[in-house]
Amino acid sequence: MLTRTEGIVLKTKKYGEADLIVTYLTPDKGIIAAFAKSPRKTKSKFGSSLEPLTHSKISLMGKEQSLARITQSDIITPFNQIRENYSDFVNVSKLVEILMSLTPENTPNRKLFAFMLSILQFIKTAGQEQKDPLHIICRIRLLALIGYAPRLSGCGRCGGSTLDFYPDAGTTLCRKCAVTPGHEGSPFMRINNKAIHFYAHSIEWPINISNRLKPGADTISELAGLLDKHLGYLLSKKLHSSKFPAGSSR
Ligand SMILES: [Zn+2]
Repeated sequence: MLTRTEGIVLKTKKYGEADLIVTYLTPDKGIIAAFAKSPRKTKSKFGSSLEPLTHSKISLMGKEQSLARITQSDIITPFNQIRENYSDFVNVSKLVEILMSLTPENTPNRKLFAFMLSILQFIKTAGQEQKDPLHIICRIRLLALIGYAPRLSGCGRCGGSTLDFYPDAGTTLCRKCAVTPGHEGSPFMRINNKAIHFYAHSIEWPINISNRLKPGADTISELAGLLDKHLGYLLSKKLHSSKFPAGSSR
């Protein structure tokens, strides 16, 4: 069966001597993996269309349930500027990691595809001075879109006011609610109001006007640290609850 679609390359992995397994984000099939026959033999157009983050028109040949083979791949946008900028690439790789670990494969999600494509465009064209806030906004919005954004507005249990974020609960909690059984002595981090406001605006404002948000460097690093803690907890929980966790052979 031949399938024509478009995809953003999320990851590639060597397979055998000269072949590649390519993981794509597509609008109509979600995250999928496909097989590319000897793309590394020459510096071909086909080979460069498989570089991470490249957006291409692709044709896949294969039966359901088995790894499809990429028979054609034509670049729409290469996004090489992002690959060639170290900080952009590191930040976008974080988004890819979030995407690949927290969203199911083979599940269509047009909104997610459109979102990823639009943020790659924004990052590609953004001025250097916009980049730090933009990267953190993208991370927050991606988490919100896939349903994993931490709650930072008031206590997640009673709604009372608080500035203490508990990574193991994924929310801010007031002191009363934080000491419920099983929660005694859980680590928390105190956040400041500026970070909470910036966070709320990051989610609510359209991304094309988010460059009007001008957070200070301290706000950005505070939120980056909070998101790292939040993600660390989410991913370790996911790993432990998964039946066949990666690295289960250890
Ligand atoms: Zn409470």
